[in-house]
Amino acid sequence: VICGTAFHTPTRGTLEVLEDALIMIDSTGRISKVVAKNHPSAAEIRAEARHQGILTELQDGEFLLPGFVDLHIHAPQWPQLGKALDAPLEVWLQKYTFPLEARYADISFAREVYSALVEALLANGTTTAVYFATIHLEASLALAEICHAKGQRAFVGKVAMDHPEQCPTFYRDQDAATALDEMRTFIRRVQELAPGEDPLVRPIITPRFIPSCTDALLDGLGRIATETGCLVQTHCSESDWERDFVHERFGATDTEVLSRFGLLRQNSILAHANFVTDSDLALIRQEGAGVAHCPLSNFYFANAVFPLRTALDRNVQVGLGSDVSGGHSPSILDGCRHALLASRARQGGVDPGLSPDERGISHSSISVPEAFWLATAGGGEALGLPIGKFVPGYKFDALLIDLHVPESNVQQWPGIDTAEDVFQKIVLNATRANIVKTWVEGAVVSCGEFVRARARGSA
Ligand SMILES: [Zn+2]
Repeated sequence: VICGTAFHTPTRGTLEVLEDALIMIDSTGRISKVVAKNHPSAAEIRAEARHQGILTELQDGEFLLPGFVDLHIHAPQWPQLGKALDAPLEVWLQKYTFPLEARYADISFAREVYSALVEALLANGTTTAVYFATIHLEASLALAEICHAKGQRAFVGKVAMDHPEQCPTFYRDQDAATALDEMRTFIRRVQELAPGEDPLVRPIITPRFIPSCTDALLDGLGRIATETGCLVQTHCSESDWERDFVHERFGATDTEVLSRFGLLRQNSILAHANFVTDSDLALIRQEGAGVAHCPLSNFYFANAVFPLRTALDRNVQVGLGSDVSGGHSPSILDGCRHALLASRARQGGVDPGLSPDERGISHSSISVPEAFWLATAGGGEALGLPIGKFVPGYKFDALLIDLHVPESNVQQWPGIDTAEDVFQKIVLNATRANIVKTWVEGAVVSCGEFVRARARGSA
């Protein structure tokens, strides 16, 4: 039982403050009850939990948030975080990214990088991660094992890419048949690693993007998705180059092509989707797929801002993606800030040479609670999982925020700041240092206090 003030956005755009509430967690890590502080049974539940030694009471300056959902991360690009952002997408892939990803044939390198990555993401509050790994079976399995061992909820994808004209010889699947065989093996082995109806770590079918896959591969992956029911992730309509390339090859949009190959399914995760048309959005909505909005990497690689408000108005499922390392921040709190900024740039426009009324696109900006919803419950809905809010039946994936850590940039002024103000300040200014504990499914998986205490002890 946890007693304290929690912030969450159970519906899009609506902040709910659970002030001094009691959150009860069952043995499977699900929330069994949320009891308001003035509920008649609150005092009794609290006293009983304290008596049993199972009560965690938040202190002054401590708050609970739901854990963050990152819908789009390239795990092998972690060593490249914060560099190599000087080239357009098609050059960036060939010049920096494919050579780096090719190194994951080395399993010990893979283990070293992936351990560091998963720990860093948990410390940054990412409790659910949707990963692209590489084409390598063993290294991709290692990522799934590491997520499982460290307790991060994850979808892990062995990347499929076999097109001889778009993929370099040193980094591509041998052919479609081999790639499909390996995808089946990968799915089976991840399911063996984390068995059961409701595993923490799951395989996800991952064609890199349409240009890098032959028709035979796309077709086969669509069949595997139907056979296994595994979710699908891929990139969709990311840049002008990519959109035009697909149009030239198929005479159709990315979304239409994915649909033809059976890859646009319930909870398919489409990264970016910047250049989707109105009918694409309707198709995405109809099939129940979702968009991983990656605002930071879009500034570098898309030369456009995803029409987020339009997608939300059409009831398309949307969450946030860091797009490590096309995005240079692993933090989904940063993701919220970038989504807010991108929506403002879209609303206000960017060219001072134009008059204000022709500069931007009205009705484009989002609010802080909307950004937070994208980062939590919105991402959960896109994946079809009960995560991202504090309601009974949902998983207790949560973060303990402490405003009193010495490194804190978030201040709470007594008599000035309301609870809503504190929430906004956390979303806009909290850092990894403020995230002092991370829970996934009721278990503590990262603990800043512990790490700091240990560092002090050994010094
Ligand atoms: Zn990506």
